[in-house]
Amino acid sequence: MLNSEEVIRIAREVGFDACGIARADALTDEEYPLREWLDKGWHAELSYMERNVDKRMDPRLLMQGARSVICCVSTYPPPSSTGGVAAYARTREYHKVIKQMLFTMTERLGINGKLCCDTVPISDKHWAARAGLGFIGRHTLLVTPEWGTWVNLGEIVTTEECSEYSESSKHSDFCATCRRCVAACPNHAIAPDGPPMIDVRRCTAYYTTHHQREIPSDIDNAGYTQGCDLCQLACPFNQK
Ligand code: SF4
Ligand code: SF4
Repeated sequence: MLNSEEVIRIAREVGFDACGIARADALTDEEYPLREWLDKGWHAELSYMERNVDKRMDPRLLMQGARSVICCVSTYPPPSSTGGVAAYARTREYHKVIKQMLFTMTERLGINGKLCCDTVPISDKHWAARAGLGFIGRHTLLVTPEWGTWVNLGEIVTTEECSEYSESSKHSDFCATCRRCVAACPNHAIAPDGPPMIDVRRCTAYYTTHHQREIPSDIDNAGYTQGCDLCQLACPFNQK
């Protein structure tokens, strides 16, 4: 059994800003409305999202006998202005760095684990929320109390039991009386009600990050050439 305090200490020592541990279990539909989003066709041509849906919902299908999901947060600087290249797109190499940090953690802990950062079908933000590191905002991103949305995520899925598990975040009510991100989106891409969801067909980032395809004439890219920060900049948790 892993000592949870030691896991979190080692995560910080290898360079992560925060770490939480969730019990490997199924994400409920309520937490992760993936099927509803797919049914609506809001994923556009992101066909990879149609694959491995079951694994995305349950890490025990990703790794036989998985008991724990160790979730790690690495922060990056917020943008100093709007337009151009979005903040997250300026940290392009982050997945290599995070994977190396996760690998170092497994070595220090003496465990085998599945290292997840971008290429593995697991919903990192939902697991981070389960691990108590923040909540899923209406703009669909993980909001951490300390650093807002300016974070990258990585996970270790492991068969090891941990001595203590984090509580799921109870902060999601913060969105109840706020629609700032909805109002800030020039393309009305963010669902104003219901589970957090984005119609990527209306999102600038879909055209400039995932596809590098021509932006339709009815999409306002607000000066962004790669990604878009507008809904994040509007979020009160990013005002600190
Ligand atoms: S990234 Fe930009 S276009 Fe996409 S939902 Fe947010 S504000 Fe709208
Ligand atoms: S801007 Fe408001 S509604 Fe949107 S994610 Fe932030 S707190 Fe929630």
